[in-house]
Amino acid sequence: MRSLAEVAAEAATCTRCRLAEGRTQVVFGVGNPSADLMFIGEAPGFHEDKQGEPFVGAAGQLLTRMLGEIGFTRPDVYIANVLRCRPPGNRDPQPDEIEACTPWLEETIAIVQPLLVVTLGNFATKYVLATKLGITRLRGETYPWRGRNVIPTFHPAAILHGGGEGSRQFKELQDDFALIGITLEKLRHPSVPRPDATVSHLAAEPPPDDQLELF
Ligand code: URA
Repeated sequence: MRSLAEVAAEAATCTRCRLAEGRTQVVFGVGNPSADLMFIGEAPGFHEDKQGEPFVGAAGQLLTRMLGEIGFTRPDVYIANVLRCRPPGNRDPQPDEIEACTPWLEETIAIVQPLLVVTLGNFATKYVLATKLGITRLRGETYPWRGRNVIPTFHPAAILHGGGEGSRQFKELQDDFALIGITLEKLRHPSVPRPDATVSHLAAEPPPDDQLELF
């Protein structure tokens, strides 16, 4: 298996989709290459495109703060996006761009091997869980996925563009991050009983046998 650095070096010259034409640089991902906790966002924005790092703008600052609330720093986790290049004007990712780009994400997940994947917002959640259900319906639960676990939550930008800190969504984001912290702790120590585990039946795939032992 290749290292993340090798994959990122190849991705740096990627021309698999039209977004290569307008980017400043490929924003591959950042963080601990063997993190237990991985975040997947949507696509780089203006600041990410300039700096070459995901989630460094206002939404990124909120993500960093939420991580801090559960005792993590950015270098503890791995952070990536569904798309590795900025869509012009921050428009939505197009289906053919997602198809062209997600082999980079898949290879990243295969190398990092996170115990828990957190999808931020609709695009990442729909890609990972292969569902048409929206984030409001899916958030706040743990879904088994390919022998790992997924917790979908709101995209931090949606909180900033919505009601901000006083909003119900912000409280739910905080609840989801508390769940992320608790779930990761339990996954790291699977012998600890999980009487309060929430396993949804909305999962894209049935959990593999070995995963059932975790719940
Ligand atoms: N929004 C995202 O989805 N990803 C980033 O990297 C920045 C903002």
